[in-house]
Amino acid sequence: MSETSPHPTGTAFTCPRCGSETTDEYYGPCTDCRQILRAEQGGEARSVTTADYEPKMNVTPNAVATKD
Ligand SMILES: [Zn+2]
Repeated sequence: MSETSPHPTGTAFTCPRCGSETTDEYYGPCTDCRQILRAEQGGEARSVTTADYEPKMNVTPNAVATKD
């Protein structure tokens, strides 16, 4: 393959946790956030991931909708 893809396999989206643009196989917290979440959980098996998907009222829709 002579053409190098700028993005690895996955979907580009905005991290719901930190708002950074990221690319991953599945929508969710970016790699950095996942490491933080893991550290915060301390290996504890909790449904933190699910709770993280809850929409927050203080999130500005424009920040998510703004695409260039
Ligand atoms: Zn993030």
